[in-house]
Amino acid sequence: MPRDPRYDILFEPVRIGPVQAPNRFYQVPHCNGSGNLRPRMVAEMRGIKAEGGWGVVCTEYCSIHPSSDDLPHPYASLWDQADIKAHALMTEKVHEFGALAGVELWAGGAGSANLLTREVPLGVASMPNLAGHPFQTRAMDLKDIRNLRRWHRAAALRAREAGFDIVYIYATHMYLLSQFLSPLHNHRTDEYGGSVENRVRLVRELIEETKEAIGDTCAVAVRMAADDGTGTPEQPVSAERREMFEILAELPDLWDVSVHDYSHEMGVSRFVKEGSLEKTMHWVKSVTSKPVVSVGRFTSPDTMVSQIRRGILDFIGAARPSIADPFLPRKIEEGRADEIRECIGCNICYTGDSLSVPIRCTQNPTMGEEWRRGWHPERIQPKSSEASVLVIGAGPAGLEATRALGQRGYNVFLAEASTQLGGRVAKECRLPGLAEWGRVADYRIQLIQTMPNVDVFLDNHLNAEDALSLGAEHIVVATGSSWRSDGYGRYHGKPCPDLGPAEQIFTPDDIFMGRFPQGRALVFDDDHYYMGSVLAEALVAQGVEVCLVTPENMVSAWGVMTDEQFQVQKHLIQLGVEIITAHGLDEFDGSQARLACVYTGRTRLVPADAIVLVTTRIPEDGLYREIASRLEAEAPESVPTLDKIGDCDAPAIIASAVYAGHRYARELGTDPELRHVTRQDKLFDP
Ligand code: ADP
Ligand code: SF4
Repeated sequence: MPRDPRYDILFEPVRIGPVQAPNRFYQVPHCNGSGNLRPRMVAEMRGIKAEGGWGVVCTEYCSIHPSSDDLPHPYASLWDQADIKAHALMTEKVHEFGALAGVELWAGGAGSANLLTREVPLGVASMPNLAGHPFQTRAMDLKDIRNLRRWHRAAALRAREAGFDIVYIYATHMYLLSQFLSPLHNHRTDEYGGSVENRVRLVRELIEETKEAIGDTCAVAVRMAADDGTGTPEQPVSAERREMFEILAELPDLWDVSVHDYSHEMGVSRFVKEGSLEKTMHWVKSVTSKPVVSVGRFTSPDTMVSQIRRGILDFIGAARPSIADPFLPRKIEEGRADEIRECIGCNICYTGDSLSVPIRCTQNPTMGEEWRRGWHPERIQPKSSEASVLVIGAGPAGLEATRALGQRGYNVFLAEASTQLGGRVAKECRLPGLAEWGRVADYRIQLIQTMPNVDVFLDNHLNAEDALSLGAEHIVVATGSSWRSDGYGRYHGKPCPDLGPAEQIFTPDDIFMGRFPQGRALVFDDDHYYMGSVLAEALVAQGVEVCLVTPENMVSAWGVMTDEQFQVQKHLIQLGVEIITAHGLDEFDGSQARLACVYTGRTRLVPADAIVLVTTRIPEDGLYREIASRLEAEAPESVPTLDKIGDCDAPAIIASAVYAGHRYARELGTDPELRHVTRQDKLFDP
């Protein structure tokens, strides 16, 4: 299909200093949990984005020198020849598809503790490490500043040698250069502190020196926040931040504009919606003639066009939308915008960086597996036989298995017990703030509906006999899980007998079905991710008085990994939810709950009319076991293969269910012995 002419503007080439981007789709720097540890995985992943139509594809933060080391969070580096070689893998792949490659040169300041290199971190002042490590920076003297400028210049030269087209001065996200700019952190009395001119001096010098070193062939970009954290919600941008932009306005070839609050810039969809940076950064284009890029979890081409036509942006910046759908630009270009796999704003992708493991994505199960498993987000090998497949259960696992098997050309029967497709996603997306999570089901349902080789049977609760009578050569069970009502979990290693009466005990499944408690409810969150806090919010909306109890020291502790924990706890406090941390639930008699301190064991009584248990889930694998035992007992002539995937195998996050469904579909008909073998990425020798 030809592209909609309304979107033509997105495909205009744009000049960036000495180079030209083929279109306005710009993958801004984003971490990926691999960095310099797994260069081939990164190179293949970035290359596929170029193939998918992103006109500019950047690295993650890239250390200029061992004095900036962020492990355990994986970062890229340009310290030596080996690093040049590793980056060349990426730039070659990106160039193969006509895109520009950008590198975000990085100096950590008080943001990095140098746990690997054990170099003393350098800072604008002697200040504490911002990630909470018990280290302080050394206040940089003028010699340190001269060294930094030298290292930055040398890294820029190495960047050019590695084949990069755009080289960044990275002056945001609380790292070193943003600390020099900051009125809160920079209290220096030399020529790098005090006045606005003095505080921008280092950034200005780095722009000028980078331009002088490589500016004839490479564009120089500056990444800087439009605000500095001193403003108000009504007026987020201070006069002096604006002045800084005005001083530097024409120096770089491109402005990559962020905001001071990272949890806003990369906010989860529960709290932050598409295009929300505009209110803070809309003015930047008015002070510079250089192209401007910024992000906003853009997935709608209409929103993108609007941002450009209204003079907010020149480039549509994206990290997460390019992770969820590396082929987003190509789909718009080919008139297939309705096939975009839209990011749901869950930030599971960010957990790769938090946990030092390769990136993964809820919507895109191939993310991070491009090199290791050879998975392409759009292409899949054709079926290896004429066999048919019965998929039982249409949650994220069953839907993704069906979609990918259908794409391979298999005849697929998808049976779903309820009258709705989507499983847990269809239920959870009705909870406060989680509407966008419905995209996990929507994307897949929409594609499945167009596949003539896929038959969907709703309202079909299958038993073993039904499943076997269909005669499919392959059966895959994806029947999900249910929340436990007996208290078993991390806190109670076995079912807890002292939780009664039963009619005053609730689980998330009860709430999904509209069975709400009344009066004062105690949410016992032993799960530590989003469910406890979202249910607390749902209950408040029903007029229930809520007390949330968690054995952890904070609400939704695992939300630290997705960078949402702070907002979650703040939100619950603002909603008036009473929060009791570091306590377990020992007993409930119908009017009072006995809680115990996890440190001392000291108990206390709190009033409660109901308990909502957010503990663990039971895999619903009964059907799988029933079919397996029938097959064993009856040994029929033609034995179908039988597998289970997703939550009915091992309850986990939605991303795991999608991945399991995708993997099943990819591996059907392949040698089971080879399925666990994945390629190991190894570092280069210097
Ligand atoms: P996952 O996250 O693993 O995909 P979900 O819990 O989201 O699991 O989805 C499981 C789906 O399986 C639900 O929609 C449920 O209605 C369906 N299901 C459960 N048992 C059966 C069955 N016996 N026959 C058909 N569908 C079933
Ligand atoms: Fe978007 Fe979630 Fe995928 Fe990240 S993991 S790109 S937030 S869908």
